[in-house]
Amino acid sequence: MNYEEKSQAKLLKEQLLIKYENGALSRSNEELQAADSFCENYKAFLDKAKTEREAVKTAIELLKQAGFSEYNANKKYNPGDKVYSVNRGKALMAAVIGKSGTKNGVKIAIAHIDSPRLDLKPNPLYEASNLGLFKTHYYGGIKKYQWVATPLAIHGVVIRKDGSAVEVHLGENPNEPAFCVTDLLPHLAQEQLSKPANKTFTGEDLNVLVGSRPFKDDKESELVKLNVIKLLNDKYGIIEADFVSAELELVPAYPSRDVGFDKSMIGGYGQDDRVCAYPALMAAINAKDTEHTVITVLADKEEIGSEGNTGSRGEFVRYFISDLAKNDGENINHVLTKSECLSADVNAAYDPTYASAYEALNSSYINGGVVITKYTGHGGKYDTSDATAEFMGKIRNMLDKENILWQTGELGKVDIGGGGTIAKYIAKLNVDVVDVGVAVLSMHSPFEVVSKLDVHMAYRAFCAFLK
Ligand code: MN
Ligand code: MN
Repeated sequence: MNYEEKSQAKLLKEQLLIKYENGALSRSNEELQAADSFCENYKAFLDKAKTEREAVKTAIELLKQAGFSEYNANKKYNPGDKVYSVNRGKALMAAVIGKSGTKNGVKIAIAHIDSPRLDLKPNPLYEASNLGLFKTHYYGGIKKYQWVATPLAIHGVVIRKDGSAVEVHLGENPNEPAFCVTDLLPHLAQEQLSKPANKTFTGEDLNVLVGSRPFKDDKESELVKLNVIKLLNDKYGIIEADFVSAELELVPAYPSRDVGFDKSMIGGYGQDDRVCAYPALMAAINAKDTEHTVITVLADKEEIGSEGNTGSRGEFVRYFISDLAKNDGENINHVLTKSECLSADVNAAYDPTYASAYEALNSSYINGGVVITKYTGHGGKYDTSDATAEFMGKIRNMLDKENILWQTGELGKVDIGGGGTIAKYIAKLNVDVVDVGVAVLSMHSPFEVVSKLDVHMAYRAFCAFLK
């Protein structure tokens, strides 16, 4: 082999083959610094927005600061106008009106702001063996063992008997009490540990410890329970029946933080899918002089199948675009048919510790850049919107043109499992759509991990799209 041949092969490789390398290697120090500083704000968002309601509230604050105002269906809007619309405090749409408005379709980035957690049952409070406890019903796909013996905080809202709402946000501050699901000590867990992991804890085992001191009175029963509700009544003015009209969610009671000696990653709760929601929101906030009208949607209920009136199988996104089309004198069906969407959701990052679950050639990697996922679903491509080659080509070229680091990803090996996203519900509207997002380690766990570089590449991808 002479030198000439080797360099020709090298040349051909560069021309013809995909280059696999740690993406952080190909990026300048300035780019890495830009990613790090973007992620400081992202972490602050994560800590303020642990539930869908808090994400909407935090997003509204950011939108207002950036000059967005609440959408009014009776008002006429012009290019450059910036609006947001809230659906029941749990979903949000932010739009910048483009120079051609909705005439040639709109550009949508849609992410979700609900995450797996433990919800209180409608009648949660009980006393057993002198302990006060809450019954829960888990929300979304969790590995139940990850939610025991770890501090939890309660976030949510209670609608009281008089119709007034009171917000609950307790357990985040180290001075506040936290809550937890207890576990059995290893000494007595022989039987428990012989069960398969999906049977170690049942849904009815996820009971939350909330008190142990009785109300001082020797004649009555269930005095621990009484004491708990008395404390809740003192603090929030609620009575036991008010739990029926409440949405109270138990989430990990600790903030997000940097991971690794190099601080290159972020660990924290709810990054599926706030790691896409925040960049997509910031892309809408920073959109200027756009040709098309651009819209970022933050949707609820993705983790339970995008159901309900705040989930993206509901009609609220179509209603909003329909209003915008009407404003321009356009037909909604024609607008949707010409529209494009990035379904901004996470993919599973390749994990060498669990390599057998992944197919290495088609997995996404930490520091590999923003992930384009042509299809999700499961074995045989069921339950997915399979993006067209044409739209994949368009998005790929857009990313290359902007020098954005990107990779493709399929969720694990064929036939080993699978997952869904919002993409197929947007595709149903006859919109071109593909999943674009961030690779996550330990997805759906209380401590999900992402790469800072990837988060920033997702932001840049949404900016490139929403312009
Ligand atoms: Mn997701
Ligand atoms: Mn998820």
